[in-house]
Amino acid sequence: MKKIIVAIDGYSSCGKSTVAKNLAKKAGYTYVDTGAMYRAVALWAIEHNALEAERIIPRLEEIHISFRKTEDGQHTCLNGRDVEKDIRRLEVGNAASQISQIKEVRAYLVAQQQAMGKEKGIVMDGRDIGTVVFPDAELKLFLTALPEVRAQRRFDELKEKGETPDFEAVLKDVNERDYRDTHRAESPLRQAEDAKVVDNSHLSREEQMEVIYELFEAACK
Ligand code: C5P
Repeated sequence: MKKIIVAIDGYSSCGKSTVAKNLAKKAGYTYVDTGAMYRAVALWAIEHNALEAERIIPRLEEIHISFRKTEDGQHTCLNGRDVEKDIRRLEVGNAASQISQIKEVRAYLVAQQQAMGKEKGIVMDGRDIGTVVFPDAELKLFLTALPEVRAQRRFDELKEKGETPDFEAVLKDVNERDYRDTHRAESPLRQAEDAKVVDNSHLSREEQMEVIYELFEAACK
């Protein structure tokens, strides 16, 4: 089977990373979570009081993101520090959605993402993978689910982490993030014309993986 690039895009909290991780594992591919890269830049910006474009742009070269393998999966590192837990905070997700609107931030991260795909054999998830990062990817998936379903999943995740979320606030956050991601001037989230759409609102994880693995095998032929 030939090695390919799998580009997975979609709204927040629609299970992109679970799908991408599972597919990468099954295929023996490298998984790259580009949302984690935007989140790591956002964390750096919060810590350096540099969320505004004019503050962060001149300092982008100070931000080094890498991934390290651990027993409980892949962790994101910011300048060598494991920040996997910190970048998952709601506040960091919102800051990521803000700084991801800055053209220079995107160019900085997109160049790194393209370099990671040079050898193929990669599953990358994000918002602009099939449209901007790898427009020639052999398989493009666009995942979607109803906002209420995604809010419920995020709500359950936060609860599991010991937080006490408010469902309406989580739903509002999901809707706001969707709006920002689809309406920004720079690389807005949109479905690539040749993407395969998978609505997982009413699919179990197993059902979804079955559909996706079939698409993967067909794309490798
Ligand atoms: O996917 P995740 O929720 O971790 O991403 C955090 C934020 O980073 C998103 O809300 C989105 O604004 C931004 N992002 C992006 N382009 C990507 C991946 C994430 O703009 N390729």
